[in-house]
Amino acid sequence: MDRTPSVSALDLVGNTPLLHLRNLGRETPGVELYAKAEWFNPGGSVKDRAALSMVLEAERTGELAPGKTLLDATSGNTGIAYAWIGAARGFPVKICLPQNASRERQRILRAHGVDLVLTSPMEQTDGAIREARRLYAEDPDRYYYCDQYSNANNWKAHYHGTAAEIWEQTAGRITHWVAGLGTSGTFMGTTRRLREFNSRIRCISFQPDFAFPGIEGLKHMGTAIVPPIYDPQLADEDRAVSDDQALEMVRRLAREEGLLVGPSSGAAMACTLSVARELKEGVVVTLFPDSGRNYLSERFWDEL
Ligand code: PMP
Repeated sequence: MDRTPSVSALDLVGNTPLLHLRNLGRETPGVELYAKAEWFNPGGSVKDRAALSMVLEAERTGELAPGKTLLDATSGNTGIAYAWIGAARGFPVKICLPQNASRERQRILRAHGVDLVLTSPMEQTDGAIREARRLYAEDPDRYYYCDQYSNANNWKAHYHGTAAEIWEQTAGRITHWVAGLGTSGTFMGTTRRLREFNSRIRCISFQPDFAFPGIEGLKHMGTAIVPPIYDPQLADEDRAVSDDQALEMVRRLAREEGLLVGPSSGAAMACTLSVARELKEGVVVTLFPDSGRNYLSERFWDEL
């Protein structure tokens, strides 16, 4: 009995597999393509990393103390991460979420007991951010406003976790790093640490190519509220990916690699291939933020 290992879901965040994309990689001989499979996190997305890092630090500093409710705005995945982590650690969670977030997302949040505030779908996450700020200003003593867009422990999760894992999993062979921008935590934190490991690694961010993207989780920085943690100087290059390119890659990943991923993973694949096509050799690493299972009720599956 006393040998039963004591593992909680919290222990399972991070250390995700690095998948070798052998089939799509055939297009670019000499260049190896890899992706971090972030749906292996307990909450099903990359955002478990950032949420856990922000929550543990807020508990450590006493900002998230008993009696306080964690409050934030999210497009969905961070909300799910807060929801299960809040349930596991015993604090209430209130989430502002655009009304057009998928039904599955809303149900998962409610299943964990989250207090949901639905905001205008026209304003995307910006509307949710404004509502979270308003609620906090109204009653600051009641909430710990986690504010993932401004919280350094968001990108630090990737600095300490994602980047170190990639460095180890590629045995230091990584030459290019590609990631999309939402809060920008994934790109900022991973890039900062990878550059410390090897300053020659090329770090390429990407964004949707227009203001109303169908790619859940990504921001068009030219028109959205720019996250305070985002530093546009950090990337060697910033590329644009269209909804069509992203969805085409969602389809190809499902059919050619056996991977059912979400639209932002399709976008990551499109950008990774655009980088790889320009190279003769290299080790290009990207990150697939979540699974396609979160989006099954969306119309684009009928069109694929
Ligand atoms: N893809 C999806 C599906 C996401 O939920 C997010 C988080 N908003 C991202 C990409 C972008 O990650 P980050 O916030 O670390 O930039």
